[in-house]
Amino acid sequence: MLIREIIRKKRDGIALSDAEIAFFVQGLTDNSASEGQVAAFAMSVFFQKMSLSERVALTCSMRDSGSVLDWSDMDRPIVDKHSTGGIGDNVSLMLAPALAACGAGVPMISGRGLGHTTGTLDKLEAIPGYSTQPDEAKLRQVIKDVGCAVIGQTDQIAPADRRLYGIRDVSATISSIDLITASILSKKLAAGLDVLVLDVKFGNGAFMVSETDARGLAESLVSVANGAGCRTAARLTNMNQPLALTSGNALETMNAIAFLKGDHIDARLWDVTCTLGGDILFLAGLAEDSAAGYKKIAESFNSGAAAETFARMVAALGGANDVMDNPLKYLTQAPVVMDVLAPCAGKVSQINSRDIGLAVISIGGGRQRPTDKIDPSVGFTDLAEVGASVDAQSIIGRVHAATEEDAKRAIEALQAAYVIAPTSGSAEPYYHELILGSSL
Ligand code: URA
Repeated sequence: MLIREIIRKKRDGIALSDAEIAFFVQGLTDNSASEGQVAAFAMSVFFQKMSLSERVALTCSMRDSGSVLDWSDMDRPIVDKHSTGGIGDNVSLMLAPALAACGAGVPMISGRGLGHTTGTLDKLEAIPGYSTQPDEAKLRQVIKDVGCAVIGQTDQIAPADRRLYGIRDVSATISSIDLITASILSKKLAAGLDVLVLDVKFGNGAFMVSETDARGLAESLVSVANGAGCRTAARLTNMNQPLALTSGNALETMNAIAFLKGDHIDARLWDVTCTLGGDILFLAGLAEDSAAGYKKIAESFNSGAAAETFARMVAALGGANDVMDNPLKYLTQAPVVMDVLAPCAGKVSQINSRDIGLAVISIGGGRQRPTDKIDPSVGFTDLAEVGASVDAQSIIGRVHAATEEDAKRAIEALQAAYVIAPTSGSAEPYYHELILGSSL
C-alpha cells in the first residue's frame, strides 16, 4: 500500500477500507507519512468527508496507536464524561467523585485549557501536590481504592492523534467534524471505557456556536463511539452564559469544593451535573433510567459521599488530606479583588461568554501559547445571570487579578461582555435532548 494512493482515493471521494485507514494511521504514528502527506489527507477528509464505517476505523486505529487500558479485573463499570468545553464548566470536578460514590470506576483523562476555555487539569493542578500524571499502576490503585482519578493524557495515549492534531492546527483542518470525532474519541476510548456521555455545548461560549453544528458533532460522536463498542450518549447543553458563576482555575476549584460541601451551589451547574451523571448511571446499568440516575447523583451530593470521595481522590494523588476543610490554605488567591458594577440599569439580556473566557486569559488565567505558565488565582466570581435586574450600583461580578492594572482591564472586558437592556428576553432552556446511539 502507498500513502500517496490512500490520499488520492480520499481526494477523489472514494471510501477507504479499514486496512487503508489502519495503514495511514500506522504511517502517522511511525512518521513514515510525511507532514505534507498528513496535511493532504486531512484536507481531503475535510472536503470529501468520511462515512460512519470510515470514521469508526479511523477512531479505532488512532485509539490503538498507543496503549489502551484494560479494566477486565475491575468489578465496577468503567465510565466517563467528556465536555466539548465552555465557560465556568467545572462539572468534571463534581461528577467524577459522584459517579465513583454511586459505584462506577472513573479514569477521567482530561485536558488543559483550550482556546477561550479553562481545562480540568489546570483546575486540579491549582491544588498543591496533586499529580495529574500518575503511572498506570498508581492510576489502577486509585480507581480500585477510591473509584475515580482525574488525570492528564500521557505520551502513550493515542500518539497518532497528537501528531495529526498538530498538523491539522497549521493546515486549517481543525474544524472537520470527522477529524474532531476521531480525535476526541481516540483519546477517550483509550481509557478502556464501557460507557461515555458527551456534553456537547452550543452557544456563544462554546466551540460550536450553532445548535445545528453541535447536534451534528454530537450525532457523529455518538454513532462512532457506539460503533467502536462503547455505550455512548450525548446531551446538547446551552453555553450562552457561564455554567458555574465563576471563571478561572483555582476559583472554579473553590466553587467545586463549595458545591460538594453544599455551601454554595449554582442551580444550572447542579442540574447539568446531575443530568449527565444520571445518563451515565443509566447506560452503565447502575440506575433504571436517567431520571433515577439523576436522583442517585443528587443523593451522593446531599449525603456528602461525593465530597468524601473527592477528598480521598485528592489525597491519593498527592494533595493534602484537608483540602476540603481548608481550601483557602491551599488554593492561591489573587492579591487584587474588585467589584464590577453594571454599566447601566436594566436587565441582563445577554452575556458574551466567550469574551469572559478571553478576559481571564488576558490577565494570565489561560495560555496564549501551549508553553505559557498560567496564574491559577485570577478570574471572575459572583457573575450575574441572564435575567438579573440591575441598576448602576449592582455588582455583575468580581474580578480577581494579579495587579490593579489587570483588574481594570478585566472590569472593562466584563462590562463589555454583558448586554443590559430594558427587558431580559425569554429564558432559554439550558439542556436539550438526549442523543442516543441507534444500538442503545
Ligand atoms: N478537542 C480534541 O481533542 N480534538 C479536536 O479535534 C477538537 C477538540
